[in-house]
Amino acid sequence: MSDTILKTVSETSTNQERQAMYQVAREIEFCYGHRLLNYSGKCRHLHGHNGIAIITLQAEILDDRGMLIDFGDIKQKVQLWVDENLDHNMILCKDDPIVPVLESLGERHFLMDSNPTAENIARLIFERALSEGLPVVKVQLWETAKCNASYQMSSQPGIDAQ
Ligand SMILES: [Zn+2]
Repeated sequence: MSDTILKTVSETSTNQERQAMYQVAREIEFCYGHRLLNYSGKCRHLHGHNGIAIITLQAEILDDRGMLIDFGDIKQKVQLWVDENLDHNMILCKDDPIVPVLESLGERHFLMDSNPTAENIARLIFERALSEGLPVVKVQLWETAKCNASYQMSSQPGIDAQ
């Protein structure tokens, strides 16, 4: 009898609640140089930024430790990759005519298929996190203290559009 009552209460409660999720985020700071092709603003010249990437993970349930993830796992799977590949590096489009010059001088650089905008660097880090099996839903890249770009999942499962 009491089991039946509890079940009914639980179902009613579930139907009335919006689907709630856990989220965790970790900031990764890194310095990078770049320049943008096909662009007339200041970023067409070689220059650098002190960027901050914020990696957001999401899940419906926690593990038996009560965690979505150990923050140290984000460090191991994403931050170390950023440290080794993007930090203190020149991030350039593979079509940039300066690439052969840097290569001839033995200068370090990281090549992207696309223009190295904040949007595309956010996507690059997002795809890295995804390839490591992390439940990433958003990467936000702060290129300056005032400007950021994000790459994120367009919709979240279980939340109905209205
Ligand atoms: Zn820039």
